[in-house]
Amino acid sequence: MNGIAGKTVRELRELLTSGQASARDVAEAHIARIEAVDSRVRAFLTPTPDVAIRQATDADIDASCARGDSIAPLAGIPFALKDNICTRGIRTTAGSRILPNFIPPYDATVTVRLLDAGSALIGKTNCDEFAMGSSTENSGYFPSRNPWDLERVPGGSSGGSAAAVAAGEVPFSLGSDTGGSIRQPAAFCGIVGLKPTYGRVSRYGLVAYASSLDQIGPLTRTVEDAALVLNAIAGHDPLDSTSVNSPVPDYTLACRADAKGLRIGVPRQYFGEGVDPGVASVVRAAVDLLCGLGATAEECDLPSTEYALASYYIIAPSEASSNLARFDGVKYGHRTKELAGHIGLMEKSRDEGFGDEVKQRIMIGTYALSAGYYDAYYKRAQQVRTLIRREFDAAFERFDVLLTPTTPTTAFKLGEKSGDPLAMKLADVLTLPVNMAGLPGLSLPCGFIDGLPVGLQIIGRPFDEETVFRTAYTYEQATDWHARRAEL
Ligand code: GLN
Repeated sequence: MNGIAGKTVRELRELLTSGQASARDVAEAHIARIEAVDSRVRAFLTPTPDVAIRQATDADIDASCARGDSIAPLAGIPFALKDNICTRGIRTTAGSRILPNFIPPYDATVTVRLLDAGSALIGKTNCDEFAMGSSTENSGYFPSRNPWDLERVPGGSSGGSAAAVAAGEVPFSLGSDTGGSIRQPAAFCGIVGLKPTYGRVSRYGLVAYASSLDQIGPLTRTVEDAALVLNAIAGHDPLDSTSVNSPVPDYTLACRADAKGLRIGVPRQYFGEGVDPGVASVVRAAVDLLCGLGATAEECDLPSTEYALASYYIIAPSEASSNLARFDGVKYGHRTKELAGHIGLMEKSRDEGFGDEVKQRIMIGTYALSAGYYDAYYKRAQQVRTLIRREFDAAFERFDVLLTPTTPTTAFKLGEKSGDPLAMKLADVLTLPVNMAGLPGLSLPCGFIDGLPVGLQIIGRPFDEETVFRTAYTYEQATDWHARRAEL
């Protein structure tokens, strides 16, 4: 690495505020890193070096007018956005061939907030098409690679965002998480990924997959960096009626190494069938470590967990089938060249533009919502969702956080699961219940198996990201997994 690229947000901020580097130096170092490694990692769909240099130069000018502490925490820090987050004037594909040249006329709220904070957008990252997948192999463009082993997937759907951070191409990125798409790639790439509570971060300008589950969040190298980024993006937004109007605490204050009195629940269902025994034992060791620092831990049961995957794969495709109706070849996106009449134009455009996984989900969702089947599928899935939420509520009467593995296994090989949709979907079996209940969940590195990172998932009460951060920070300070770097 060139000395600057690969540093954390916190470290870069020190360089910037002490005058050891300008924002332009920082942007250039990361652009050079992308040029050096991205032909192998393939994290980026659309690099935006010119935009980054321009924004960094603005940050330098602002900094020369300001003094030390009045410089915004993310000023001059480069970042990347998953390509389903809208950027005004910059191509946004959602990983789909149906949006090959969509230039949004507006920014997502998270984009506005990061730019207002002085950060410099360095590129848009690869993802599974419309965020449907667990490996980036469903991207309409190309798969991204895991920096720890280029033959393996970085996870998905926010795989490009995770790989970019793990490869030192960018100090932080944003992803979106509908069933695990921030936490699962964070686990596979050995970094920190946070899905905030549903409603904590505005979804305005996020290309919708399943609106009742989607949430945007940060991918970073450290827990404190995740807190810094959440500070910048969280909070009420009049443009998203599901964003909640409650005060945003300073999450960095929650980053203190203190496990005293912390009550940890360890749900048995997250250590059962399909979970690699090596992963389970690394995670149990993490629980023991926290107990050694003053926490208490107890096993508990979340019996409806076994129905979470099945009900998620009714609810998510149902919402997707409705959300994706707007891609009709008329309003925007790909339009067929064939002359086919107005219904034919829609059918042909959708047929040519959408990939197989997306088509399958539209069909499942449309079926599940159709008259006569709605009660049997969609309604029942929503009832299961309520049960899942109630079981979490009951657990949180006894515990402050729940600790589980983030994924059943470490990163798998490219192609290993792409022919087996069920095997692929099982990659999110431990993360998607958190979306079903709308809770915050964070993944952080807790060990390695055969050179591949393992993720520890910390689940919190709704809007209690602070306890999640405190738990994660305490663990991180007592270990050095986060300090390891993939060699490229
Ligand atoms: N892999 C899950 C799915 O395909 C989750 C994806 C996500 O969180 N966006 O639905």
